[in-house]
Amino acid sequence: DLENPLDNVVYEEMTPLLEAMDKQNKEKEAVANMRKEFSANVSHELKTPLTSISGYAEIMMNGLVRPEDIPRFSETIYKEARRLLTLIEDIIKISKLDDESVELEKEDVDLFELTREIVSRLSLTASQRNIHMELTGESVKIHGIRQILDEMIYNITENAVKYNKENGNVTIWVGNTLEGPKVRVSDTGIGIPKEHQDRIFERFYRVDKSHSKERGGTGLGLSIVKHGAILHGAKVQVDSEYGKGTRMEIIFPEK
Ligand code: ADP
Repeated sequence: DLENPLDNVVYEEMTPLLEAMDKQNKEKEAVANMRKEFSANVSHELKTPLTSISGYAEIMMNGLVRPEDIPRFSETIYKEARRLLTLIEDIIKISKLDDESVELEKEDVDLFELTREIVSRLSLTASQRNIHMELTGESVKIHGIRQILDEMIYNITENAVKYNKENGNVTIWVGNTLEGPKVRVSDTGIGIPKEHQDRIFERFYRVDKSHSKERGGTGLGLSIVKHGAILHGAKVQVDSEYGKGTRMEIIFPEK
């Protein structure tokens, strides 16, 4: 039996094609899995606060609560309802980022000015916990989507406050570097254990669920940061030491 020499040629030419198709299928599958996992997580995350809201409300409605317990019950209902609102807002933000058909308009944004506004929005929360915030740097303009840049910088700065310690510091610097325009947020907080550092950008991932929940976290903040970075061609770098503090940097491409 003589081998058909053409078989070999066909095979050699087909291999890279087949491999590319295989890779594409795997990527599609990964995206499909991520979506599936996201919806499963969403239902779970929405159900938890709703279960406690309806549970507490039902007990009160049936008159099964002592008058002195009413403030505590109402507070739980209020807190869980707030949580639900934040969660829904974050989910809407993510769906918008996911929706490729939505055209987001780019404009010139001064990162320093934007960060200054964000710092002032967070200053009350920070001062309530005796956390000192400081912003230095210089005006640096990039072409981007203002609202998304706002969410990105807000989320990393809010985390630096949220996961800080009493009397801690948050130091922010914005300016030009050799790598490109940069926003750097450093904190003297609880830090992130090494084994978690790659995973914190995943949707709903939290190092310590109860700590995050207590501080009103949804586990979606950093996935919004990552998404926004991709949209702007930016990179996000984490440097953290458990127990000592964290430094997060968003580095934008040169114009
Ligand atoms: P969350 O809503 O829980 O804050 P994020 O997506 O913003 O969600 O962050 C994911 C997790 O990463 C947090 O739950 C927290 O465990 C950890 N994390 C993020 N930023 C910091 C930080 N500056 N210091 C310590 N841990 C952090």
